Amino acid sequence: MHAVVPQAVMWWTEFRFNVGYLRDDVGDRQGFAVLGIPRVQFRPAGGSSKQGRKASFLSSMEIVDAHIHLYPGTEVESLAWCAEGHPLHGQHSVEDYLEATKDLCTVSSHKLRGFIFIETDRKSHLETEAGWDEPLRELDWIRRVADGRPRPGEGHTSQHAHMCLGVVLWAPLPSGAEAMQRYMDRVQARAGMMLPLVKGFRYLVQDKPPGTMLTASFVDSLRWMGRSGFAFDLGVDARSGGIWQLEEAIEMIERAHDGLPNDKKVTVVINHMCKPDMRSRDQDGNPATEPFTAWKTHMARLASFSNVYMKLSGGFSETDPLPSAGEQGDWGSQVRDDLVKRTREWSGSWLGEMLTAFGPRRLLFGSDWCVCNVGGGGNGVSWMNWWSVVDGFAKDNLTEEDQANLWSDNALRAYRCAR
Ligand SMILES: [Zn+2]
Repeated sequence: MHAVVPQAVMWWTEFRFNVGYLRDDVGDRQGFAVLGIPRVQFRPAGGSSKQGRKASFLSSMEIVDAHIHLYPGTEVESLAWCAEGHPLHGQHSVEDYLEATKDLCTVSSHKLRGFIFIETDRKSHLETEAGWDEPLRELDWIRRVADGRPRPGEGHTSQHAHMCLGVVLWAPLPSGAEAMQRYMDRVQARAGMMLPLVKGFRYLVQDKPPGTMLTASFVDSLRWMGRSGFAFDLGVDARSGGIWQLEEAIEMIERAHDGLPNDKKVTVVINHMCKPDMRSRDQDGNPATEPFTAWKTHMARLASFSNVYMKLSGGFSETDPLPSAGEQGDWGSQVRDDLVKRTREWSGSWLGEMLTAFGPRRLLFGSDWCVCNVGGGGNGVSWMNWWSVVDGFAKDNLTEEDQANLWSDNALRAYRCAR
């Protein structure tokens, strides 16, 4: 199973909350803060009337959220990282997700079209095929969402089915191409009508030993995925894991693509900007030179491969967290606006480098909901807070056409979804 490693304890005394961070296999930092649901109305951080006019000028722009996790309350025990007392313990349903996103249409011309579901790191192992049971049970769960056939109390209805635009499942990549084919046979048998929504696979490498993604069998699995038309979601961690993970990722892609025509090269969708160290800053608030330069160099190398995309997601896990609402449920919209503005300023250099490296047609917006609730201010505001960070960046740097690429078209292309 997967080790859960406590990493640090931070105190935000000003806001009377504390968060203990641990690393988990979902690919995201988690905390132990008790997340209240803030009773506040969202308004865009630092939103000027000029921005408002600009937004209203844009025609309704669709958003495809390229990275969310969902799980029913009845299956929480099958998650590898979510012990009792964890702030994300308990059901996280489509209805909860829609609650988190509900202010979008009141503050912008954006409209949420749907999401790509990403596997949520269920308990698994590679010794026997019995180790695939929980990930396959996760497939059954997301099939109920995509088919619009919930079990009682699962928090979705047939009205929500159309929002599931694609699914990235766990898969046993270290076991090699033959095992991948056997696994796929099992997926095929259980997916039913939703099979075309299976767009890719993820096997998190950020918490695995060095060399995991460079074994011949792992690379063979990637080559099988390329031949079969599936995308690979790559989860590496520059901040907590180390820059060596990016080095290995570069070599892994090099070998997976070697000698293949472009249409047979596996598409790699990198999660969470490779989790850069956005917390280290100099006294002027600029990124600390060393981690920034190392990360930037690797971004350029990763972007040099064709078929490689990057998700602008997971930022709240890598920069200083936003405070959750206090017991009263409202720590003030001005305070929140200021903090989101600060996150925008601090993340600006990193987002800018990704645009330089990948260009406007290979960046995807992803919320990393529900993990963004930890560090993003809680379910009532976290999704909107991250949207606001990315929206500010997009409006400052992208044409209207490229904003549409970022918010939806790039995700549809990367995952080969119907338009
Ligand atoms: Zn995630």
